This record gives sequence, structure tokens and C-alpha cells, in this order.
Amino acid sequence: MVGGYERNHPDVYPEVTLSPAGLLQPLPIPFQVWEDISMDSNGGLPEAQGLDTILVVVNCLPKYSHFMGLSHPYTAKDVASLYVKEIIEFWSELFRQARTKLKYSSAYHPQTVCQTEQNSQHKVDILIKCQNMPEFESSWELAADIKLNFPDFHLEHKVVGLAGNIIGDEAYKGDAELERGRLRLGIGLEGVRYLEKAVFKFDYGQLKLVFHALEERKQVIDNAPHLCNALPCMTPCFDWFEVVYYWIGLKMYDLIAGARLLHLSRFYSTEESVELFPTLAKEGKGRRLRGTVVYYDGQMNDARLNVGLACTAALAGATVLNHAEVVSLLKDDIGERIIGAQIRDTLTGKEFDTYAKVIVNAAGPFCDSIRKMADKNARDMICPSSGVHIILPDYYSPEGMGLIVPKTKDGRVVFMLPWLGRTVAGTTDSNTTITFLPEPHEDEIQFILDAISDYLNVKVRRTDVLSAWSGIRPLAMNPSAKNTESISRDHVVCEDLPGLITITGGKWTTYRSMAEDAVDAAIKSGKLTPTSGCVTNNLHIVGGEGWDPASFTVLTQQYMRMKISYKGKVVPGVMDTASAKHLSHAYGTLAERVAAIAQEKQGSQTFIAMCCLCLYLCLVQMLSDKRLLMVEVGPAVKREHRMRRRRRTTSRVRGREEGENALDRERKEGSISKMFCKQALKDECLGKRLAHGYPFLEAEVAYCARHEYCESAIDFIARRSRLAFLDTDAAGRALPRVIQILAAEHKWDKSRQKQELQKAKEFLETFKSSKNAQFHDGKHN
Ligand SMILES: Cc1cc2nc3c(=O)[nH]c(=O)nc-3n(C[C@H](O)[C@H](O)[C@H](O)COP(=O)(O)OP(=O)(O)OC[C@H]3O[C@@H](n4cnc5c(N)ncnc54)[C@H](O)[C@@H]3O)c2cc1C
Repeated sequence: MVGGYERNHPDVYPEVTLSPAGLLQPLPIPFQVWEDISMDSNGGLPEAQGLDTILVVVNCLPKYSHFMGLSHPYTAKDVASLYVKEIIEFWSELFRQARTKLKYSSAYHPQTVCQTEQNSQHKVDILIKCQNMPEFESSWELAADIKLNFPDFHLEHKVVGLAGNIIGDEAYKGDAELERGRLRLGIGLEGVRYLEKAVFKFDYGQLKLVFHALEERKQVIDNAPHLCNALPCMTPCFDWFEVVYYWIGLKMYDLIAGARLLHLSRFYSTEESVELFPTLAKEGKGRRLRGTVVYYDGQMNDARLNVGLACTAALAGATVLNHAEVVSLLKDDIGERIIGAQIRDTLTGKEFDTYAKVIVNAAGPFCDSIRKMADKNARDMICPSSGVHIILPDYYSPEGMGLIVPKTKDGRVVFMLPWLGRTVAGTTDSNTTITFLPEPHEDEIQFILDAISDYLNVKVRRTDVLSAWSGIRPLAMNPSAKNTESISRDHVVCEDLPGLITITGGKWTTYRSMAEDAVDAAIKSGKLTPTSGCVTNNLHIVGGEGWDPASFTVLTQQYMRMKISYKGKVVPGVMDTASAKHLSHAYGTLAERVAAIAQEKQGSQTFIAMCCLCLYLCLVQMLSDKRLLMVEVGPAVKREHRMRRRRRTTSRVRGREEGENALDRERKEGSISKMFCKQALKDECLGKRLAHGYPFLEAEVAYCARHEYCESAIDFIARRSRLAFLDTDAAGRALPRVIQILAAEHKWDKSRQKQELQKAKEFLETFKSSKNAQFHDGKHN
């Protein structure tokens, strides 16, 4: 990802066998040589004078390296003796005099690894080049693969112990399909339909898909418990055949789920159902509700999971780039194998090349365009299929229960689920073409509204639609399939072009196993030698380890939110339950960091810096013309400033020239202090909510800019929080403040701020909330 740590340290790669030690923390910069050292070794070298291993010790400040020969087998004692003999004895006196302590190990500071390992790598590169020893290359664990997509597969780099790059373009195409609405984990009733196909058409592929999804659903809920949860879903049945059919189907689903089952499905009578789902219609269109079958599916906060995966990958040592677009692929001299890619940083427009033994193409609906960069005649694999989702107010569905209609008029699934405090309704796919920014058609929105209104006792109104969007599913193409309904959702991994592994199809739910398959294929293709097997099964996503559903209480009890009162004063407010719950779920155990930002007076540091500067200026001025400079920090100080200025003017007796010089200086210094003060006041607190009725806090913008590579306003409103998807108009209203905070974090000038506002507004117009729809077609009021 561009920005943040990786941008400054593109050469970092991981200590691959370690679990993440928390967010990357910048290491203190050593002040003296030998204050900070790191060690690494390279074995498996051709024997020279009985030695086959090089021990590298790096002095981290000057990067001064010691290379010492060792021979296998050696013990820790041998290494220690060598170290003592070659370095300590020589340097011990220097250590003593420099008061150096050995404090950091790569176990707790994975980011330190780069210094020694990069050094080792350079050494090995030189050896390989100088001695022409390609046969040893594979033992250096230097295999790097590029992933063309940032979120999903990075963990596999850790899995197999490879250094990896993850390149994805959040701004360019990401919002078109990736980020547009993946809310359900598992396959639930769709699963029943797959089971149906498996049983009646003897389709093993469909059965495999159900197993797969169930397995992975459990895994992702375990690994990201703060972001995923079980959600009961109700299926209304209007005749007894339906009751029996769905009850049996869902019982089979329970049976197949086995230990991976979230909860048992069960039948509810009409009365019980209406109690659980008050807006459910008991009758209508000549039918009567006979009861409902409730089963459990999984639900997730997809945007947060996406970012969590990228951060976990970065922690595990992957170099992650966002806002980076693959513009072409690089081939070897004979034009056979793909050996790299040309990348464009879409924030700066700069382009660079990167090389790898294997490249993984996971560009979703755009993976064919990547394949065509290598071979323009490559046959299409993707059958794009669009899905439309709409957001309605929370009163449409109860908090803990979803509604799934397995077969609408045209045989599609329609669902209505509680999601992030609102109700999301949507349908399965319809055939589409790949477009840059897909927009939902009015008839698709109307189809969903009509479909759900058949099952509800409330009036379903277009004007209630807070947001509506469309996304493209990258279904893997079956050339004989006529429509997307008959295409399996299973994923496809192939290497039709040497060096380029394409992974596509599948479901969000199965991302981990898809990644595992892609990496297995990459290992085979690149003849890579991973240092470990797959560990992502039990690897927590950042914020997930140690998280407890009750964690939010700590936030409410121990934190405040600093807000600005109507009178412009900074006042502490309570960390209300809704905000605390939201932070706890969105950031897991890292929520306290966001809460701490909401509690801080953000301006205080700037303010202190400003005070120091002013103090310094005062001192300079006192020494030069013995006058005090005032700082404008508030009305009282302003008054005082005016008085002193008056006094100064009357006492200005040192001659016109001197007075003018002093005035110039004062103006200059005054404007600096004014600038500081304005900034300090502007940023004084980040404890307020960003949008009325939503729990997102201003502090989250700062946190995401600092720790989650949030590089644009759209990144925040769409890909760090889901505000644009939840309520397009609310997102529009929050934009100026989001941009203001990001501007302070990233030091954006006025023109960048204007640009961000423009881009974000255009982006929001692709969401068809009732207001946008009215704006576009004039039909809705
Ligand atoms: C509306 C909708 C609802 C869905 N609901 C569910 C659900 O409930 N449950 C479920 O499990 N699945 C669901 N899915 C399916 C799921 O979202 C997809 O299967 C999954 O996102 C595919 O992941 P992917 O990584 O292959 O592709 P994507 O998620 O599309 O990611 C591709 C990435 O590649 C990047 N990219 C493209 N071209 C380039 C380039 N040239 N250079 C750099 N980067 C590039 C894009 O920016 C993007 O980030 C849904 C999909 C849609 C559209």
C-alpha cells in the first residue's frame, strides 16, 4: 500500500515464521553506533575452506556489516563464540564506552528484519552474480511473488514463507466491484439450492462448494470474530409443501455443516415468526403465511475485513501497495515467461517495474484484462454478473434477524438483512458487462423493492432508499453456460500463461482457501521452497486476537470523546454505547487506539509546538529589540495582544526604519503564530460523530490515515468505513470534515482538498439513493 510504513520501506520483508506482534511501531533511531545491532545467517552455500554459512551482524546506525564464516552443523554456542571472538572482544571496549545495550530482536520488531536480511540478500545476490551459481538461488528463500490484488491472498505469503508484494488499485477499479457489497458469509439458502443441484443433478462441484463455504465460514468467524457474526435468517413459507421442502433442505444443510454448524435451524409458527420479525406480512396476494424456517448464516463487515487482511499481510511482512495499478506485464528475454509487472502509482502517476518468480493475477472481474496484457488472444475466463443492493432504514428489519426469499417471481433469491445499523436488501445476479463504475438501474432497484414488499406489512417506498449500488461478481466462465445461474461459484486457478497464475471466481467466504490454492500453484510454477506450510487457518486478522464481545464496555467506561460545544469550547462527552460498540467491532482490540485519538485534544501537540516556536521568537525578539511578541490563541489573548500593540506603537521611538523592520518581522512572525493557532484550533478534538445518526467518529479518519493507508476521501467513506454505502447523503455531508482531517494528516494543500471533494462527489453520484435518483431522472420525490 502506498503511504504509511511500506511506502518508506519498500524493501521490508518478514520474519515469516512469527505471528504478528501488533501494529508496526517505528523503531527509535539509534543515536550512536553499536547502540542497536541485528543478526542473520545464510546457510547452504558451496563449501569454501570448510565453511558453508555466513553469519551477518549489522550495526544498525551506520549499517556497518560483519560477515563471518561458519560451517554446518553448528550450535548456538558456536555462533556465540564466533560472535565473541570476532566482534565482542574487539568491540567490547567500544560497547562499554558507548553504553550500548542489545535491546531489539526481530521476534518483537519484525520490521528490523529488513536491515540484516536485506544485507544478507545483497551479499547473496553478489555471490550468485559473481560466482554464477544459479543452482543455489532456490535455497535463499528469496522468491517473491506479486499479487495483483491487495486484499485476499497476502496471508499466503506468510503461509509459505515467501517474501511477497501485494499490489492493488483501490482507487482505479476497486470501487467498481470489489468493495460493492459482500455481506454474507457462507451460502445459506443459496447453499440449499446448490445442494438441490448436487442431489438432483449429481453435481459434485456444487456439493464441494457447500462444504468449502461451510468450512471457510467457520474459519473466518474464528479468525476475525470482531468483524463476523452468526445471523439468523428467516424463510417465509406460504404453503405446507414449502415448509417441508425448506425444513428438510435446511436440516440437510445442518447435517453437512456438522461441527461447523453455527446453530441448528428450526421451524417457527406464524405467530412466533411475526413476534420475531414484526414487519413480516401474515397474508397478502391471496396467500397465508404458514410459518417460517430459520437457519443461521454468517455476516461480516466486508470493508473492515478487507483492510484487516491487508494490514495483517503488512504485519506478516508483505509489501502492500494500494492505489497501484498494473499497466503491463514484463516477459523474459525469449518472451516466454512472465517475470514482472509495470506498476503505476495512481496517486503520483509514477511508474516502476517490479520482478518476481511468479505473479498471481487476482484482479476479479478485470483478471482477463491482465491476462490479455500477456497474450492479447487469451480466451476470456470471466462471466461478469451484477448484483444490486439497496439500503433502507433500520425499521424495515429487526436487529437480529434477516429475511431470505429463496424464489422470487423470476426465480432469484432476494434477501433483507440488518447491516451496520440499517437494512440491506438485494438479489442475486443478472448478466452484465464489465464497466468501470457500475451503477444500479432503476428497474433493478424497483425489482428489489417490489420483491420485498410482497413479504412485508409496511409500505415499501423508493424514497426510503438511503443508498443503492451495483457490483460485479467475477464468475468463472463455463463456455457452455447460457446464463449465470448455471455457473458454479467455485473458484478456478490456472496458469495458462507461464509465470502468471490466475485465480478467479469463488466467494468472499472462501477467500482463504482460494489463496491457499493460488499459492500452491505459485509454488509449483516457480519451483519455490516455502519455509513452512499453510498457517492461515488459525491466523487472526489484526484486532481479532483476544477480542471479546464485551470489549466495548472498556471503551465506554474508560474513554471520553472530546467535542466542541456550541460556544466553541472543547468539552469532554461520554463515549456512548453505540460508538463504543461500533469501534470495538470495527477495530477489534485496536479500538482503544481510536478511542484514545477521540479523547485527545489533537491540537495539543501542534499547540505545544506552536508555543515553543513563539517562545523562541519572543526570546529572539527580546534579545533584539526587547519587545514581546503576542500569540493569538483566544479572545482574551487577542485583547491583550491589541493592548500591547497599542503600547508598542506609542513606544516606537527608535526611528522609522527600525520600527518598520520590527513591524515586518512582527507581521511575519505573527502570521506564523496565527497559522499555527488556526491549525491547532481546527484540530482541537476528533471526538465528534461524522454524520448524524451514525456511530462513525472523526477520530477514525485520523486513525485510518495513520495506520490503515487511507489515502483519499473515498478510501474513508467507502473502504474504511461504509458510510457511502449506508447513506449516500450522510456521506456527502460528512465529506468536508473527512477531507479536513485527512488534509491535516497528509498535509494536503487547498487544491488537493478541492480535488478530493470533487472526486468524492462524483463517486457518490454513482450510488442511487432516493436523492440521487431524483437528481438523475426526476421521477422520485
Ligand atoms: C453485489 C455482490 C454481492 C456479493 N455477495 C457475496 C456474499 O454475500 N458472500 C460471498 O461470499 N461473496 C459475495 N460476493 C462475491 C465476492 O465479492 C467475490 O467473489 C469476490 O469479491 C471476488 O474476489 P476477487 O479478489 O477475485 O475480486 P475483487 O474482489 O473484484 O478484487 C479484484 C481487485 O483487483 C483490483 N484490480 C483490478 N485491475 C487491476 C489492475 N490492473 N491493477 C491493480 N489492481 C487491479 C481491483 O481494484 C480489485 O481490488 C458478492 C459480489 C457482489 C458483486
